[in-house]
Order: sequence, then structure tokens, then C-alpha cells
Amino acid sequence: MSSIPTELAAVASDSSTQVSLLGMNRQMLADWLRSQGEKPFRAQQLMQWVHQRGIIDYDQMTDLSKVLRAKLSQLAPVRLPEVKVDQVASDGTRKWLLEVDGHNAIEMVFIPETNRGTLCISSQVGCALACTFCMTAKQGFNRNLSSDEIIGQMWLAQHLLRQAGWGENPITNVVFMGMGEPLLNVNQVFPAAEILMDDWGYGLSKKRVTISTSGIVPAMDMVTERLDISLAVSLHAASNRLRDVLVPVNQKYPLAELMGACRRYLQRYPKRHVLFEYVMLDGVNDSISHAREVITLLQGISAKVNLIPFNPFPDTDYQTSPFERVLAFQQRLMKAGLQTNIRKTRGEDIDAACGQLAGDVSDRTKRKANYQQTIQFRRLDSQQGTRV
Ligand code: SAH
Repeated sequence: MSSIPTELAAVASDSSTQVSLLGMNRQMLADWLRSQGEKPFRAQQLMQWVHQRGIIDYDQMTDLSKVLRAKLSQLAPVRLPEVKVDQVASDGTRKWLLEVDGHNAIEMVFIPETNRGTLCISSQVGCALACTFCMTAKQGFNRNLSSDEIIGQMWLAQHLLRQAGWGENPITNVVFMGMGEPLLNVNQVFPAAEILMDDWGYGLSKKRVTISTSGIVPAMDMVTERLDISLAVSLHAASNRLRDVLVPVNQKYPLAELMGACRRYLQRYPKRHVLFEYVMLDGVNDSISHAREVITLLQGISAKVNLIPFNPFPDTDYQTSPFERVLAFQQRLMKAGLQTNIRKTRGEDIDAACGQLAGDVSDRTKRKANYQQTIQFRRLDSQQGTRV
């Protein structure tokens, strides 16, 4: 496992300063224990108690000395996000609204399938990237999540799902596809990802933890160099002209650079593929000639493509592509030898679908009200034979 340079570690040099235990990876924890005059191998015991057994009460960690337990209670409190809303959709998808500090909220989603359970987690409160079809973008950027707030989501989901009778290991896959751009928060996302994949942590294989990025090229290279993990890229258009509009960060890191970073990742990990996400927007990026552009762009790249039906939200001008067009697009890519899946939309009745994760409770309430209003306008208009 690659280790994060110590300067990134949230390890206090002052031995009396509080640290947050949940977000420290193996190396950070061992360093911190050493700074406390403890044996670094205690890191293994601590990680297993917290991440595997789900125990955060130090008094229950019976194989640690009383002195160490007292020190941990004082210096390394475990802070967890607080559940504000907990919803289950008719298809079993479960969504939580979590408060991470006094007023900021993030969302996480659990998607159960026959052979796996995927947890979709957030890396930032809001997002700075302004992708035009994404609801989180409308909220703007608020702040980065810390590594303990990121791992706190995993800890909490595992805890709540175990309580709900989903067995010992309900979460088999984790995707950084919630709110935010994970690769604009690498200092916090990398240690969290390492804990997810650490045998002393959640023990997920690198095939089952995916970072999704809109294409922050220098940080993609950091992933390649430092973190052995699966990579997804939000492509959405295979020409700079269109991608500049849909994913504005393309103006900074255009397609040639993006594909360069994908190639370097695949050179480093030749047995892998990159997953390309492509949201299907009616009349915008969903024609056969767009499919041809995708085929040309991905030539020679070990790629899988995920077509995501657009999830509409209030005040958006985009619409979902008709299903036949999504199918035709898929067939065209498959004919060219590209493995292409159409992502099933899950948890629609609780707004848990892709790109619908919102942050702020009051904002959400407002948005819901606006939405109801929009729907009413639409109905009114369709009765009058016009469209908004
Ligand atoms: N910032 C990262 C991860 C968060 S978004 C990224 O861009 O990859 C996770 C995925 O949901 C991305 O592929 C994103 O483009 C997609 N998405 C966002 N809004 C959507 C919407 N309204 N409908 C469908 N997919 C959406």
C-alpha cells in the first residue's frame, strides 16, 4: 500500500493536541502512537476495533492498556456525522442526509443488488465544478470534507446496515460518486481511500473502490503514482466544443490531456480499465455521431462505458434521452467493441439518483417547494397547450 507523505498527515506534533482517530490511515496512526510513546503496532488493534468491529468506545478495547485507553479518550475522540434523514426507496436503495458540522449536510446512498452492496459517498460539501447538468453544482462549493468525515460515512453506513440485519459486511463496493469532486480534495480523500482498502480497515479490494473524477489531470496522475484504486472518468462528451459546456473544467484540462492521464494510469496498471461515465442528455450528446466521437476518442484505451440516463431536477433545461436513443447509442458503442452498460436508475422515489444529492437541509426544502411549483406550472402550461 502506498503511503501518504507525512506532511499530509493530520498527526499532531504537539503530543497533547487532539486528533481525529477515524480518518487516520495506518501510517498516520502508527506515527501518532509513536509520538505518544506507544508501540506503533497498536495501530492494527485500533483499526480493527474501530473499522472492522465497529467499536468506538475505547473502554471496550480490552486488549489495550488502561493508560492508552484513557489517553485515546482524551486525545483521539471519534466524531461521527449525525443522521438527519434516513429514507428507504421502494427498490431498497437507502439514502441518508448527514450533518457534518453545525449546519452543513451531505448525502450518502446505499444501493443493494443481488451480489453486492454499493455505498456512494461524498467528498466535499457542494462542488466547485459547475457541470451544467448536475444538481450539486447549483449549490456551489462550500468546503472540503476531512478524511474522518469521509470515513465516518462508511463507518456509519456499515453500523446502520448491520443493525438493520444486512449481515456483517453489507458494503462490498464504495464509489466516490456522491457530492463533490474527490480529486480536488486528495489530501483527505487519499487517506480515507487507503483505510477503505486496508486489510486492517475495511479490507475492500482495489477493484471495489472507485474514485470518479470530472478530469482533474494532475490529481489523476497522483492517483496513478500513489494510490492503487479503480478510476472512473465523467466524460459526457467526446469533443472539446461540447465538453467545454457540459463539464467546464474541460477548458482547463481538455480531452487530449484527460486521455493522456488515462493512458498513464493504464500503463501503470495494464490489467485495469477506466470506467467512462456518460450522462444521456436529450438532443445534446446522444446522437449516433456523438457515439462515433466516443468510439474514436476511446480507441486503443482499455475502457468500459456507463451510460447514465439523465436525472432531471428543478430549473434544468436538459431532458432525459428517450430510452430507444440510449439503446441505439449503446449498440453503436458495442458494435465497435466497447463494453457499454446502461446504468439502472435507483431510488427515484427518494431523490437518491445520480446527481441529485443535495447538501443543505433548508436549501433542499426550498428546492422541493420550487420543484412542486415548477410541476404545477408545467401542468398548467400543458393544459394550455404550451411548454415552459
Ligand atoms: N465530481 C465527480 C463525482 C461526483 S458526480 C465526477 O464528476 O465524476 C458522480 C456522477 O454523476 C458523475 O458522472 C456525474 O457526471 C453524474 N451526474 C451528475 N449529475 C447528474 C444527473 N443529473 N443525472 C445523471 N448523472 C449525473
